[in-house]
Amino acid sequence: MKDELNPFSIAQKQLDDAAEKLGLDKPTHEFLRWPMQELKFTIPVKMDYGATKIFHGFRIQYNTARGPAKGGIRWHPDETIDTVRALAAWMTWKTSVVDIPLGGGKGGVICNPKVLSETEKERLARGYIRAIARTLGVTKDVPAPDVYTTPQIMGWMMDEYETIVGEKHPGVITGKPIPIGGSQGRGDATARGGIYVIREAATAYGVELKDKPMAIQGFGNAGQYAARLGENALDLKLIAASDSKGGLYNPKGINVEELIDYKIKNGRVSGFPGADEISNEELLELEVAVLIPSALENVITKENAQRINCKILCELANGPTTPEADDILYDKGIVILPDFLVNAGGVTVSYLEQVQNTYNLYWEIEEIHWRLKEKMTRAFKSVYERSQCQKINMRQAAYLVSVARVAEACKLRGWV
Ligand code: NAD
Repeated sequence: MKDELNPFSIAQKQLDDAAEKLGLDKPTHEFLRWPMQELKFTIPVKMDYGATKIFHGFRIQYNTARGPAKGGIRWHPDETIDTVRALAAWMTWKTSVVDIPLGGGKGGVICNPKVLSETEKERLARGYIRAIARTLGVTKDVPAPDVYTTPQIMGWMMDEYETIVGEKHPGVITGKPIPIGGSQGRGDATARGGIYVIREAATAYGVELKDKPMAIQGFGNAGQYAARLGENALDLKLIAASDSKGGLYNPKGINVEELIDYKIKNGRVSGFPGADEISNEELLELEVAVLIPSALENVITKENAQRINCKILCELANGPTTPEADDILYDKGIVILPDFLVNAGGVTVSYLEQVQNTYNLYWEIEEIHWRLKEKMTRAFKSVYERSQCQKINMRQAAYLVSVARVAEACKLRGWV
C-alpha cells in the first residue's frame, strides 16, 4: 500500500501535526505514536462443508491512560494490521474528544462475512473471543460492533466470554441485542450523534439545511440512519446514496424509507426505481449541502478533492479523507466535521450501555438521547472554539483537544 494511503501512516502524521502544535515533549509524542499492546492471532473455524479454515485476527489496545480500551471489531476481506492500528488510534482520540472515561482499541478479522453461514459466523465470533479473552474485560478492553459485525455477533461474543470466566459480564462488550443487556438507542447512535454535530456546525458556520440536498456514500448501518435522521431532524433531502455494488441519484429527492426497505430486501441500492445509476466516485462530487461518507477509508484523496462540491463534509466513516485532500478541502472553504468527532455517537452510547450494565439499571430512550446530545454538543463546541481561537481547521482542532487530554492522563499516571 502506498504510504500516502496507509491509514496508520495517516494517523501518525495527524498526530505528529498535533504534537507539534501542542509543543508535546518528545517521549510523550513518541509514546502516543504507537499502540501500547497488539495481539495478532489465528482462528481455526470448522466450516459447514466439513473442512477447517484458518482466519487471521487482530486486537489492539492503543492507549488506556484515560480508561479501559474501547473499540469495535471489523470483519472485512481487506483488513490489515495497519488499518486496525489506525482505527485504534482514532478510537483513543474519539473517546477523549467526547470526554468519556475510556481509552482506544480496535479489532478485526480478515474474512468475507458475505460468504459465511450463520453457524460459521457464530464459530468465528466465539473463536475470536477465545483468542483474546485474557486481555478482555470491563476494566481492560471492551469491544463493540463495526463494519460487517452485528448485535447478534456481539451476543455470541459476550456469551463465549461469560462461559470462559463462569460469570455474567454483560459490560464486556457493547452493541448487544437489547434483551441481553444492550442499550436503547444504540442502533442509530452513530448517525444521531453526527446529526447533532451537523446541526451545531450549520448554526456556527451559517449553512442553510432546510430542503437542501445531501448525498450518502455507504448505505449500511450508519448511512441509512443518517439518511433518515438527516431528513427528519434536519429537513435535508436525500438525492444520492450508494453501497459497494453501486449508487443512485435523483436531484428531485429519493424516498428514504422506501430505499431502506429496498436495500434490506435486495442487499443493494442499485436498481431502486425512480433514480438513475451513479458511480461511487460521481456521488462524492455532487453539489450538495451535506456529503456523508459512511463506508470505508481513503475515498477523498488529492485526486478528487478539488472536485468535491459540498458545504459540510460529515465523516461518519473512519478515515475517508487523506491529509493531502484535507488541505485542498480547507482551501475550498468546505467545513470538515472530522470522523472521530462526528461519529463518536456510537461509542458514547456504548459507554452508556456499559454504565447501565454495571448498575444493572436500564434507561428509557429519552434519557439516552438527552445524554448523547449533551456529549456531542459539548464536544463540538470545545473543538469549534479551539479552531476559531487558533485559526485552524476542525480536524486539527479536534486533535489538539483530544491529544492534549490523553497526554495529560499519561503524564498524571507518571508514564512519560
Ligand atoms: P455497515 O457494514 O453497516 O455499512 C457499510 C456500507 O458501506 C455497506 O452498505 C457497504 O455496502 C458499503 N460499502 C462498502 N464498500 C463500499 C465502497 N467501496 N463504496 C461505497 N460503499 C461501500 O458499516 P457501518 O457500521 O455503517 O460503518 C460504516 C463506517 O462508519 C465505517 O467506516 C465504520 O468504521 C464507521 N463507524 C460506524 C459506527 C457504527 O456504530 N456503526 C461507529 C463509528 C464509525
